[in-house]
Amino acid sequence: MAAPKIRMHVPDALHKGQTVHLTREQSHYLFGVMRLNPGDPVYIFNGRDGEWRAEVIETGRRGGMLSVRAASGPQQLPPDLWLLFAPIKKARTDFIVEKATEMGAARILPVTTEFTNSERINRERLQQHAVEAAEQCGGTYVPDVADLARLDRLLADWPSDRRLMFCDEALVGARTSLMSAPPAAKWAVLIGPEGGFSAPERERLKSAPFVTPVSLGPRILRADTAAVAALTLWQSMLGDW
Ligand code: SAM
Repeated sequence: MAAPKIRMHVPDALHKGQTVHLTREQSHYLFGVMRLNPGDPVYIFNGRDGEWRAEVIETGRRGGMLSVRAASGPQQLPPDLWLLFAPIKKARTDFIVEKATEMGAARILPVTTEFTNSERINRERLQQHAVEAAEQCGGTYVPDVADLARLDRLLADWPSDRRLMFCDEALVGARTSLMSAPPAAKWAVLIGPEGGFSAPERERLKSAPFVTPVSLGPRILRADTAAVAALTLWQSMLGDW
């Protein structure tokens, strides 16, 4: 059986001959868990320079080194799609970040709404989930996870060239179409918390000129399911699928 392709995100600029110094965690994974030896390949990417084949040149549980040998894949950029979502329980929030990365979101913005369950996130941990999801799914791009922000403030400062696909549970079962929205190159998807949107939030969203309200079918979905369904819908109608 062929050895699994090991992929790793690194912050360094990548070019042939470059030496990459590994962190303690990366070294533990490569040499302690995956048992790599000098000469073994590791495929690395930094989110900017595509994927490169590197080789282990020094091993050590606390630190090791790779040498970059050759380009192995182009830099792929996702469509300019943001995911705005209200954080829910920890494991389900982690799931949303992981799936949004796999599904090709360019940026992930946790937001607080009137009925948000969680007023705090660990941004660095969520960013690490995005890195691991990109490593696992063969992507060369890692979406930035923003700090938690208030939805009303984001809406007040919303960029005029970005449309917002508002997933509104009040439209459950209604027939809506993303294709009826004015053409736009930049989009965002908005998913509410377990408690849904308040009536004033819904009115404000519906009256904004950049908003397209949509239904996600005849059943109310959990927020994590809704995030995956909404990204699937957008990607299949307007994205890179
Ligand atoms: N508590 C709300 C209720 O009972 O009506 C349900 C909120 S739902 C668990 C969380 C979020 O997922 C919603 O705010 C919405 O963004 C999205 N969502 C779930 N089902 C949806 C549907 N059928 N159509 C549109 N959005 C949906």
